[in-house]
Amino acid sequence: MPMFPWPDGKRVAVALTFDMDGECVPMIYDPQNYQKRLSLQSEGTYGPNVGVPRIFDLLARHEIPASFFIPGFTAERHPDLLREMIARGHEVGHHGYLHERPDFVDDDEEERIMIRGLEVLEGITGQRPRGYRSPAWELKPSSPALLKRYGFLYDSSLMGDDEPYFIDAGRDRLLEIPIQWMNDDWAYFGFCSIPSLGNGISSPQTAFESWSEEFLGYRDFGGCYVLTMHPFVTGRPSRIRLLDRLIRFMKEHDDVWFATLSQIADHAIATGAAIHRPNADLTIASRP
Ligand SMILES: [Zn+2]
Repeated sequence: MPMFPWPDGKRVAVALTFDMDGECVPMIYDPQNYQKRLSLQSEGTYGPNVGVPRIFDLLARHEIPASFFIPGFTAERHPDLLREMIARGHEVGHHGYLHERPDFVDDDEEERIMIRGLEVLEGITGQRPRGYRSPAWELKPSSPALLKRYGFLYDSSLMGDDEPYFIDAGRDRLLEIPIQWMNDDWAYFGFCSIPSLGNGISSPQTAFESWSEEFLGYRDFGGCYVLTMHPFVTGRPSRIRLLDRLIRFMKEHDDVWFATLSQIADHAIATGAAIHRPNADLTIASRP
């Protein structure tokens, strides 16, 4: 297969993306009891209050623009932070209102959440979000058509390729910039004691080994390496060091294009290089 034609002869695109779940974190971890749990609530607020300023500094030092996906409820609590994101050249994308998974709500509610999130983000930043990332990375088969209807340029929630591709969106198509659990900080560091969630707490070295090797593989194949992080996870001191080390490792290669997902989407569409991958056909004609 030909390599994806990245700008200026670059071999690989890298997008640093941050899902700023913030005040929605306790709701995700403990939907029944989150209002009673001050400690859990503080874990969520650590992201916007402490993690994001550190991430801003790191990205500024490396002159890399990033994409932030933010639930509307969290955005309403940090409007100045969102405005600063835009002022710094980062992108703000849609991530639900209360971090609702599309496959857990009916179509009407999914649309109401879509509208509410758009209104909140646009009201704060003055810009309509161009990208969407579904909470917990789960879309339902009808979601891409809804995203298309609301004018989104791209989605970044699926895992069907290593480079941008088009997915079915009703009668239309929507650009997908794929992600993967392997390239997500939560898979390495996600931890909640009650209820028991996550895989435990790995060392930064473990994540570095996996992410740097994965980056080299993406570079071999000419892919689009999307790293997904959460400010309450990667904003912690040792993981800021990890991200700094990873960026410096990537920068040892002079053929890397660091870009926002929006920039990558514009490029993928302009070049016409993204192929169409139809949704999996799971029709079962007759059960044995
Ligand atoms: Zn999230």
